[in-house]
Amino acid sequence: MTRRTSADAALRARAAAVIPGGMYGHESTALLPAEFPQFFSRAKGARLWDADGNAYIDLMCAYGPNLLGYCDPEIDAAFTTQLAHGDAMTGPSPLIVELAEELTQQVAHAQWALFCKNGTDATSMAVTVARAHTKRRKILVAKGAYHGAAAWCTPNPIGTLPDDRAHLIPFAYNDVASLERAAREAEGDLAGVLVSPFKHDGFVDQELPARAFAHAVRSVCDRAKALLIMDEVRGGFRLSRSGSWTHLGVEPDLSAWGKCLANGHPLSALLGSEVARAAASRIYTTGSFWFAAAPMAAALATLRRIRETDYLERMQRLGAQLREGLAKAAAASGYTLRQTGPPQMPQILFADDPDFRRGFAFTGELVQRGVYLHPWHNNFVCAALSEDDVREVLGAAEEAFAAVRRREGTLVPHARVKAMVGV
Ligand code: PMP
Repeated sequence: MTRRTSADAALRARAAAVIPGGMYGHESTALLPAEFPQFFSRAKGARLWDADGNAYIDLMCAYGPNLLGYCDPEIDAAFTTQLAHGDAMTGPSPLIVELAEELTQQVAHAQWALFCKNGTDATSMAVTVARAHTKRRKILVAKGAYHGAAAWCTPNPIGTLPDDRAHLIPFAYNDVASLERAAREAEGDLAGVLVSPFKHDGFVDQELPARAFAHAVRSVCDRAKALLIMDEVRGGFRLSRSGSWTHLGVEPDLSAWGKCLANGHPLSALLGSEVARAAASRIYTTGSFWFAAAPMAAALATLRRIRETDYLERMQRLGAQLREGLAKAAAASGYTLRQTGPPQMPQILFADDPDFRRGFAFTGELVQRGVYLHPWHNNFVCAALSEDDVREVLGAAEEAFAAVRRREGTLVPHARVKAMVGV
């Protein structure tokens, strides 16, 4: 189990000089076990190789963008073919029309599309459209939910102003009474409710939406003639081939998409229903790279696979196998796990681990055995994962749980995580 780590260490030292904090944002290893590599050189299918050449079965999927497998030949061929013809040009390519047509076919509520690059672009634009449509200010958001890194929504307020989020009103996910309270607080000034398809916050158990909650969100919006904004950036096309609440009988007015929309190529979108079209055509929104054609070609190829293959059922089946196997492997070493959320987007926490010391030890042991599993963020299954991969993960997990058991008396929490979770 001796892994090479020297290239990663050398890159970290160089990064410390030229990248603030050494690394930033969600891909920084600052809140991960010390054994996790920071830099990766290669990815293919469900696998990653770090800068030292160590291989991993990757259960993070780039935090979501990898849906069908890294470097998928069909999707990347669509991308590179368009790249050779032109990407960012003086005007959009015909693909923008084709992609808007296909997405509005695919997603039940959608009748129009605007394209952008990151999830934050799409959620921010959604809020602007809701305010333009209603000429009101207040947006209800679930406490602890992540909607991006702009000043109005970043979880770390350093450098932002209280004014930036002055018109957000929090409610508790799945709690109808708290939602109604927030709506009363916004009375007469409610522009919209921004909500994720399920509760997928870091460090805590995930929660699927109760049907009554989903309908209450819709009815709060309908009563006030405000817009329901669904943040599909993380869950979109991983829960459903259409909108994530379509199966509950609830459709949003606006939905923000990103991450896996083009299977890893940079593209996000705001989709809207008829009611929001006029407002969406009045706001000014744009970006130098938002119209680039190659990611749109990749998105069209991704959508074809979403329509024509069993990618979703496959991810659900493999996710369920993983969940069942991990529970057994944990039990064999005397541990109980809290595995929550959809099996294809699993949150995997230890039952009795308030400061995350066991979860950190486990994922640290696992990464040394060639499995990249996140200790506090939801993980992601991609359709390129195989049953052999799941068996390999479970074999490594069995060893990792046993190793944690042997170290049980000596485990210490990660200092920054301990401070964050406040135990
Ligand atoms: N919304 C959700 C639910 C997300 O998970 C994310 C990214 N983790 C975002 C919005 C922001 O997306 P991006 O990082 O692409 O700006």
